[in-house]
Amino acid sequence: MTIYNFSAGPAVLPRDVLLQVQAELVDWHGSGMSVMEMSHRGREFMGIAAEAEADLRELMGIPANYKVLFLQGGASSQFAMVPMNLLRGKASADYLNTGEWSKKAIKEAKKFGAVNVVASSEDRNFSYAPAFSAWQRDPDAAYLHYTPNETIGGVEIFDIPDTGATPLVADMSSTILSRPMDVSKFGLIYAGAQKNIGPAGLTIVIVREDLIGETLPGTPTMFDYKIHADNESMYNTPPTFAMYTAGLVFKWLKARGGLAAMEKINREKAALLYDYLDATDFYNSPVARENRSLMNVPFTLKDAALDEAFLKLAKERGLLQLKGHRSVGGMRASIYNAMPVEGVRALVDMMRDFEKSHG
Ligand SMILES: *Cc1c(COP(=O)(O)O)cnc(C)c1O
Repeated sequence: MTIYNFSAGPAVLPRDVLLQVQAELVDWHGSGMSVMEMSHRGREFMGIAAEAEADLRELMGIPANYKVLFLQGGASSQFAMVPMNLLRGKASADYLNTGEWSKKAIKEAKKFGAVNVVASSEDRNFSYAPAFSAWQRDPDAAYLHYTPNETIGGVEIFDIPDTGATPLVADMSSTILSRPMDVSKFGLIYAGAQKNIGPAGLTIVIVREDLIGETLPGTPTMFDYKIHADNESMYNTPPTFAMYTAGLVFKWLKARGGLAAMEKINREKAALLYDYLDATDFYNSPVARENRSLMNVPFTLKDAALDEAFLKLAKERGLLQLKGHRSVGGMRASIYNAMPVEGVRALVDMMRDFEKSHG
């Protein structure tokens, strides 16, 4: 039986990438070493790292005046690193609150400065994104932070907000690489790798050069973007094996036609699921139509008492990790780049069968 893994993260990786990792595991390209055993300053690994960065730059069209950093600490460390590095003498920053991850970013930022919440969708259980025209921005804000895709609520913001001279900061953990985005519109982009990039343990930061180098007093060395930028992410030991695996994912994406091609496939996959959810009363999508995420699709059963039976049948069919987050309830299907369209078809077939037998 083919297994399809709908986990929100750590999430499914492309099978071809896993097979390549397996084939190269104990002896990378005749070096006699596993990538895990290599010096991060050796010729072999320096090549792996440089190629990963070049491929990511090509995929995302990252302009030359942006640094790409390969860090550790997860997206959660960025909740602190962003204010420590980007407040730059200003007293406060703007934050949009669209869900659980926004809330965590806001809570952490408050340790370093004032936070102005420009708008919040908490009034309707984070099921939509407030319109840009309604955001109450502070003209003196050091930056504006938002979460283009809330992984838990399944709320995605498709248009990039135009914040003018205020640097735009985005937590792209669950949407990076899912579709083309104009990097030049952002001051800083960050993402934990374990959703749509590669294994956990790697965090990618893409930051405009002129924004770094002015940290809050007392900022630890490891939390200073400039230190990592000046040392090409080798100030200390980077997450070498995760970087190598991410590099293979970048090559896999390039071979599939890049991010425009991925967007087409991702839209097709999401439409299969949302069209079915809309066509039945047995299931419900809680998210406003214009904000339905291409990557994380939460849905509920009309009768929550059937949740356990639903998950049992899913498991029997090889459809794993569909249980929703406790704050939303119901189910959540995460359909990142590495989820093939066949996996989504198998899920919709199973949902239809379940409805027939329980509806
Ligand atoms: C998963 C996730 C995080 C947390 O990432 P860690 O790497 O576990 O710290 C933060 N923001 C978003 C949007 C996420 O999906």
